[in-house]
Amino acid sequence: RQAAISAVTNYAVNSPPIEFADSIAQDYYSTNVFSKSVMKDRLPKSIYKSVMMTIESGEKLDPTVADIVASAMKDWAMEKGATHYAHIFYPLTGATAEKHDSFLSPTSDGSTLSEFSGKQLIQGEPDGSSFPTGGIRVTSQARGYTIWDVTSPAYILENPNGNTLCIPTAFVSWTGEALDKKTPVLRSMQALNKQAQRILKLFGHQDGSFVASTAGPEQEYFLVDRHFFFARPDLLNAGRTLFGCKPPKGQEFDDHYFGAIPERVLAFMLDAERELFKLGIPVKTRHNEVAPGQFEIAPVFESANLAADHQQLMMLTLDRVAKKYGMACLMHEKPFAGVNGSGKHVNWSLGSSSQGNMLDPGDTPHDNAQFLVFCAAVIRAVHLHQGLLRSVVATAGNDHRLGANEAPPAIISIFLGDQLTDIFEQIKAGGASSSIDSGTLTVGADVLPLFPKDAGDRNRTSPFAFTGNRFEFRAVGSNQSIAGPLVAINTIVAESLDYCATKLEEEMQGDPQLLNTAVQSLLTEVINEHSAIIFNGDGYSDEWHVEAETRGLLNLKTTADALPYLHTPEVQQMFAKYGVLSNRELESRLETYLEQYCLTVDVEANLSVSMARKLIFPAAIRYQNELAAACANLTLVGIDFDTDTLDSVTALVKGLQDGIVRLEHAIADHSATTPVEEARHRCDAVLPSMLMVRNYVDKLESIVADDLWPLPTYQEMLFIK
Ligand code: ADP
Ligand code: MG
Repeated sequence: RQAAISAVTNYAVNSPPIEFADSIAQDYYSTNVFSKSVMKDRLPKSIYKSVMMTIESGEKLDPTVADIVASAMKDWAMEKGATHYAHIFYPLTGATAEKHDSFLSPTSDGSTLSEFSGKQLIQGEPDGSSFPTGGIRVTSQARGYTIWDVTSPAYILENPNGNTLCIPTAFVSWTGEALDKKTPVLRSMQALNKQAQRILKLFGHQDGSFVASTAGPEQEYFLVDRHFFFARPDLLNAGRTLFGCKPPKGQEFDDHYFGAIPERVLAFMLDAERELFKLGIPVKTRHNEVAPGQFEIAPVFESANLAADHQQLMMLTLDRVAKKYGMACLMHEKPFAGVNGSGKHVNWSLGSSSQGNMLDPGDTPHDNAQFLVFCAAVIRAVHLHQGLLRSVVATAGNDHRLGANEAPPAIISIFLGDQLTDIFEQIKAGGASSSIDSGTLTVGADVLPLFPKDAGDRNRTSPFAFTGNRFEFRAVGSNQSIAGPLVAINTIVAESLDYCATKLEEEMQGDPQLLNTAVQSLLTEVINEHSAIIFNGDGYSDEWHVEAETRGLLNLKTTADALPYLHTPEVQQMFAKYGVLSNRELESRLETYLEQYCLTVDVEANLSVSMARKLIFPAAIRYQNELAAACANLTLVGIDFDTDTLDSVTALVKGLQDGIVRLEHAIADHSATTPVEEARHRCDAVLPSMLMVRNYVDKLESIVADDLWPLPTYQEMLFIK
């Protein structure tokens, strides 16, 4: 630990600083992407057009274009120094997987030929039998295919030793079932588009431009020095600290939040942003977050599928670049107890190139009927599917965050803000005739410019908040793929739009004159039946927990409570009806996520035992021994030794030992017979026993001599930069 501290305090940058003045962002933005403009330059016009029809309008891909695209892609990639190509896919673990193949093939005369055919572009066959599939495949039937996703552009991943052409793909089984996170995103976008078109048609817009769901994920993360990281087996193996007392100074002063960014961190950010820019990821925002050592990065929103791929790439890039600056980037939801954890705010909306953003209320939302229908559809969807929304953010890591007083509660509700709430109240009372005018912001200092106020204030305690022209799903975990949450939102909103379109169609009977009355009765119905989900108050408060219960809202506190909502009959029928996930595919997800939860807790539990036994216990008895020796020696020379500290240490050591045994029993208990029961056991027995061990360890940390303490402390990890 002392060596780690001195290494950190003597840190010097060893890579030459980037000369930003020599290379301006515009020059390298998207340079490593096989982008639309590259395609336009390199593909015959007809081929380019055909590919664009798929990318922009969701048309079926014409397979005959593949050979020509592949050849252009290979030439481009080889010019950029690529030697290999890789199909990139997104298994249910939430990670990013890749399988590399060389462009080179041997020829009969002993030389080699570089080749990359349309078939190789379209389809790959990784074995991949070790990925969790939740029963869709057994290991003996390992055939799985990766299939080119033309809507997410190929890119070059640079490495000092050779570059790779990366091709985003879907990953499916031999039976065509989705084994990955991407396939359902694409299917759910298709479902959403179909239903949104019906609403647009009723409002007289039917130019056919694809209605895409859009996503802008804000990523929170921690940075710690790598020396500390490697000195903590828990950070290294579990991504979070299993032990550690709260530092004397934490985040109380709010002095880190939006504070000046430390120099080394800023160097890291600039470098990471540059890498992301090259990959065409439009990062925009960076700032310090609430906890010491915590930061945030956010890109401009993109089409949901692309945003999901870019998010994965962003997490990998942050991790890679942090190493270069001697740091570890912690993406875990709760790396440190007692200070804030990290989330990922997924901003979501839907829009098309001709109609713009469907959730943009305009200046007078009360007479923007189309907006109100889309907004009402979201309200209805979230109310009916709270359980599903909670279950798609249920992970072992996120359990430490949701419901603690720093993150949205485990209760799903919607924040609408004053203006929209008022409009829906008016609708309830018979019809909306006005929008609260937000007016101009006056600060009282004449030198400051006047500007129009936002229509509503913010509410950071709401898990699902309307933020002006989009909804922000804030319960997503920092370590999660955003694909699952996007699939859930897209599908529940598709179902809700389907319901709304059917209602309107029935009432209008083809007569556009009846649109207004039909909309009025639809909105009245939705608000009467679903307003229980709307809550503009403090989501962290105890009163809300009580009130939510009287409103009949779900409060699913843990993953073990929430995941089973993935296979309620309503959820199964909905996913099947919209062709997003078959029952078997859904079941496989439930099984996989339950398993992931159990494995995560098991790793942490085993680590707790080994660290407590091999690091903490020895330190504690060394100290105990020192105290005992001091006592014996002093008694010999006739001085009274106050044994209070020795007694405390002795009691804590005893408690620690007993706690370890209890935890080992909990780990060894295999009486659960179903995956749900197994998760319950982790939640009800293993985690509480871990916490007991932790309590003894943390008390010992506050009493054992500092020079004997083996682990870097919170104070050191969070504050020494
Ligand atoms: P804040 O931290 O104030 O919530 P940020 O600027 O950090 O805001 O992030 C807001 C995110 O919302 C950005 O990624 C932004 O691109 C995204 N966003 C804005 N409009 C939309 C939209 N129509 N659909 C999806 N995301 C959007
Ligand atoms: Mg936000």
